[in-house]
Amino acid sequence: MAANPRRPAMNLIDKLPIDGHRVLIRVDFNVPIEGGDVADDSRIRAALPTIVHAIERGARVILCSHLGRPKGKPDPAFSLAPAGSVLAELLGREVILSDSPVGDGPTRLAKDLRDGGVLLLENVRFHPGETSNDDALSKALAALTDFYVNDAFGTAHRAHASTVGVTQFVREKAFGFLMAKEVEALGRLLAAPREGFVAVLGGAKVSDKIAVIQRLLSKVDTLLIGGAMAYTFLAAQGHRVGRSLVEEGHLGTARDVLSTAKRRGVQVLLPIDHRCATELKPDAKPRFVTEVDISDELMGLDIGDRTAAAYGEVLRAAKTVFWNGPMGVFEQPAFAHGTRAVADALAASSAWSVVGGGDSVRAVNESGKADAIGHISTGGGASLEFIEGRELPGLTALGYRRPT
Ligand code: ADP
Ligand code: MG
Repeated sequence: MAANPRRPAMNLIDKLPIDGHRVLIRVDFNVPIEGGDVADDSRIRAALPTIVHAIERGARVILCSHLGRPKGKPDPAFSLAPAGSVLAELLGREVILSDSPVGDGPTRLAKDLRDGGVLLLENVRFHPGETSNDDALSKALAALTDFYVNDAFGTAHRAHASTVGVTQFVREKAFGFLMAKEVEALGRLLAAPREGFVAVLGGAKVSDKIAVIQRLLSKVDTLLIGGAMAYTFLAAQGHRVGRSLVEEGHLGTARDVLSTAKRRGVQVLLPIDHRCATELKPDAKPRFVTEVDISDELMGLDIGDRTAAAYGEVLRAAKTVFWNGPMGVFEQPAFAHGTRAVADALAASSAWSVVGGGDSVRAVNESGKADAIGHISTGGGASLEFIEGRELPGLTALGYRRPT
């Protein structure tokens, strides 16, 4: 069969002869910890297909991940112990945790592993060489194993020792199933026809998302804008936005986006009504503004009901949807309506949809509509950089080349 040029060959873990051998799998167990427990285990669950595959093949499984930002030294607050317990429960088998990412302890534990055994290395960012992509750490990780697999899409945009450096010192390397699924879904998104392709963008700042917006302008036929970034766009159009968050330095950027969109025939929808409050504080009382302009004492904290209905209508008719960034301050129930409406509309739409971004994914999970979404990306920053067209060092290190 001829190779699909859109889909560059990805060497997958199932092609590696890992049976009876040690395989180091870089996973993304960077989970939220609250009160010493894992608050959301979706990243651990997402890594299960690769881990279970390796166990079933009788490999000796060594898992490596970071958690949080422990500043290159051991810090119990960032231990992977809670993630290890959750994994043991999900697998129904023992997961051994080393006391450090590399060194005598892990070396002995790796050597003593039996076929099908699972060793979780302690947080790799306890070592200062992780984020500096240090060769000594890369070699020490490689020395633990026969094969290397990367399944951590969430860190694919970082050139670190456990994602990039280590690949120079291992015999063979491959994609894990999750990594491959992410790359395929985002690749499919970028290859989707423009007709019926809708992007929904929201969240905190225009400046965070500007590169993505610019790239999407050449891909989509409709752009729906919500969240705080909508107010920079409305201000750029000369509307009154009261005390809403506006990035003064990006008014020009917003104008450029609007004029590029116009030139390319991309329809851009901005909020036509809002849920506001006098300030952004917990339990702020919602005030409804039924027109585009917002009076001086109010700030926009969510899109209004007419906006939500209009966006929902576009989404229900869409064929392909990319969504990044909540429509409002969804952490507060009073300002979660717009975000919820988008999640509902996506669930009801026959469109194939991709959701990326830490907060957007959380919002979709909380809405209970996750099953109706085509692909939920586990990588916030990584998915945005992929869509921007940037090279992801973690993918390149696995031999991946972007389709051209
Ligand atoms: P993601 O993580 O999905 O990429 P962002 O991090 O860009 O999303 O944005 C999420 C944050 O934006 C949330 O904390 C939310 O409260 C905030 N936000 C959304 N709309 C507004 C608004 N109108 N005013 C202030 N903050 C907002
Ligand atoms: Mg975020």
